[in-house]
Amino acid sequence: MNASMKKNILILGGSSEAFNLAEKLENHGSFHPISSLAGRTSVPRKPAGTYRTGGFGGVDGLAHYIKQETISAIIDATHPFAQKITTNASLAANKTNCPIIHISRPPWQKEKGDNWIEGASMQEVAKKIAPTHSPCFLTIGRLELSAFLNRTDIEFLCRAIEPPKSTDPIKQNIRIPKNEDQWPENFRFIYAKGPYNYENELSLIKQHSIKSIVTKNSGGDKAKAKLDVARNLDIPVIMIKRPCPPKGITVETTNEALTWLETI
Ligand code: NAP
Repeated sequence: MNASMKKNILILGGSSEAFNLAEKLENHGSFHPISSLAGRTSVPRKPAGTYRTGGFGGVDGLAHYIKQETISAIIDATHPFAQKITTNASLAANKTNCPIIHISRPPWQKEKGDNWIEGASMQEVAKKIAPTHSPCFLTIGRLELSAFLNRTDIEFLCRAIEPPKSTDPIKQNIRIPKNEDQWPENFRFIYAKGPYNYENELSLIKQHSIKSIVTKNSGGDKAKAKLDVARNLDIPVIMIKRPCPPKGITVETTNEALTWLETI
């Protein structure tokens, strides 16, 4: 089958599952993958094969893109906390009659010895940090740190891929400092990109005398080591619970999505 006869598959990405899918489909006989990245990081990992970067312009923009690029199916492999793009993708798929499947990896489950304090939103968990939990390790990236700004009583060690930027989308409806040097002194920053292993997480947590960790319940193996360290050091984990699962066909793995793809 020549390239133009293959079915175009839009992979909404930014997750390890999306990179994995793009690799598996790059040389597929029947499908041509087009990966889409939001463009949040300045030096993103590049998916295998064709890819594009940046928002589509809401539901209508995505619907237009689906028609323009004759997309035969969408695989929503975005991060489990990327709710807006998932909702937009479902609505745009519905509008254009384009089949869609969502990949949602299983959340982490509490294990024996874990001390988890759970909350449904960034604002809620920000209130749950006790004074004895300082210094607190914030492992939520850079876009939602503003929820913790009013906790002037807590020392924060913030880990993100890169510093806050003036072009960052604001996820809370308040004014936030845009650049690292404008943040209050109780916020310190370190920059790193996963996967993270046990030894490195242990050493970092000990080096900064961390007393609590804030994380989203992202699931998967790449960021799980900090939970194992927390359990072994008896450090509380302040866990942001998963948002509602996407509506429509949802699977947990890339292999299940590939099996579905053969049915379209
Ligand atoms: P979001 O709040 O769900 O989406 C906000 C807007 O960003 C969307 O409406 C869309 O803009 C654009 N967008 C998001 N993902 C896109 C994609 N893959 N391709 C093109 N446009 C996209 O998203 P987010 O939580 O900021 O996450 C952004 C990206 O980072 C996602 O691709 C996600 O997989 C990845 N990521 C997110 C997290 C997290 O914790 N949220 C963690 C790791 C990785 P338009 O409306 O203009 O189309």
